[in-house]
Amino acid sequence: MPSLTIIDTVARREDKFPLGCEIVLDLARKASWSADKTITDKGTAAKIGELERDYDIIGFSLYHQLQYFNIVPILSSFSLPLLTYDRSKDDPIICAGGAAVTSNPFPVADFFDFILLGDAEEVLPQILKLYSKNKDLFLRRIAETFDCVLVPKYPGERYKVAITKDISSGLLPPAEGRQPKIELARGCRFNCSFCLQSVIPYRENSLSAIVPILYQYAPKSVFLSANTPASYSEFVPLLNYCQQERIYPRGLSERLSSLKPDVLEKMRELNMIQANIGIEGYSERLRQMIGKPISKDSLIRKLCLIQRYIPILSVNFISHLPTVNIDDVLEFKETMESVLSQRDQEEELNTGYDFTTTPLIARPHTPMELYPYVEEKAESLADSVRISLLDQFTSVKMKFSMSQARRKMEFLLSRGDESFRDFFIKTYSKYPTYYFHQTFAAKIKNCFADGLDVDYWLSAEVHPHWHRISF
Ligand code: SF4
Repeated sequence: MPSLTIIDTVARREDKFPLGCEIVLDLARKASWSADKTITDKGTAAKIGELERDYDIIGFSLYHQLQYFNIVPILSSFSLPLLTYDRSKDDPIICAGGAAVTSNPFPVADFFDFILLGDAEEVLPQILKLYSKNKDLFLRRIAETFDCVLVPKYPGERYKVAITKDISSGLLPPAEGRQPKIELARGCRFNCSFCLQSVIPYRENSLSAIVPILYQYAPKSVFLSANTPASYSEFVPLLNYCQQERIYPRGLSERLSSLKPDVLEKMRELNMIQANIGIEGYSERLRQMIGKPISKDSLIRKLCLIQRYIPILSVNFISHLPTVNIDDVLEFKETMESVLSQRDQEEELNTGYDFTTTPLIARPHTPMELYPYVEEKAESLADSVRISLLDQFTSVKMKFSMSQARRKMEFLLSRGDESFRDFFIKTYSKYPTYYFHQTFAAKIKNCFADGLDVDYWLSAEVHPHWHRISF
């Protein structure tokens, strides 16, 4: 029986693997392959050396650009040549998939024998069927057959991302070592102009398909997988079902407009005490710019409503937009003062707020794809707001997202091209370490000087070479 393993460079435990990996493993097993997970996040490159390399196919799950730094350490630990062109016919096939490489695979393409762009269920079963020990024949065949498969040895002119209409393979029953997760929807209904999810078509699983699987999780907590679960078209009936079967939904990251009174009421009944509100702009003007045209008054009204139902609210704002100015920041301050004053006036309310400010990362393929990276300008402006709000109100936290250097690197890697491959090799020779994401930020600053024209890649002048891929 041929064998395949999936490596997730972030998951530290088997039950932390993302749903996309679970779907791939399930598809492979149904195609009569032996398929398992490989845990790599063990802290040091030496420990990674314990990994096995006897698989026919080794797949990397790459949904976040910072995972790219772990490709070279892992390939080195397998004692495999780093580049596809240098591997022999006896080496395993090394491949990758996931949202990061789907939007722009070119920075890391040469490390892989092939990269699958888009939804695995659309083509993986056919790819596995074509598998042959004659590695070269196999790669040539899949390059010729699928326009969603990038094979660096047999490059195509253009690629088309695979989008499956039927996402029911995201409805997996409980299993040992699998996170309890049910896929409600893929893609996003909203059109935020910086976000890759806005260009991926929105698809849902029907409630009648979800219920028999969800039933098997009762009575337990289950993650509802979707970009904005509350905008799932049968969300309230779904919560009713959860309530009836004593299933506790988790993982609610929301857009303000999805949190309507009936949804909020149900969330309260289910004791869902926490919600994350997705990225907003400081001011009406900035929200227009990112495709969230919500007025200052409606934002205040909406947050005042939500705080009556949800005791812990995390709200994320974008700070670094090219035109941000002091008026935007002051509007943000006034908005929050209104919401928090209202909270303090109502005796029974004690909602805790956690505001986060994140630099904008305008993703390839989106309307804002050529926006430049903006340095910390807004951060110093917002610092005065932070001090003022913390002075006036209790139960408010306000922080800037973890590391500017880390976000900047993510931005850079999301736009890169083939020339980046030497950058990863050089970085590894300088820091021969497997990176924990948590400790990565401290080191990342030192990577910037390594042979990349950083200013070009962060600027509005960058050539959108990723247009060779279409969604
Ligand atoms: S930012 Fe959130 S709401 Fe907007 S398109 Fe992306 S996933 Fe959807």
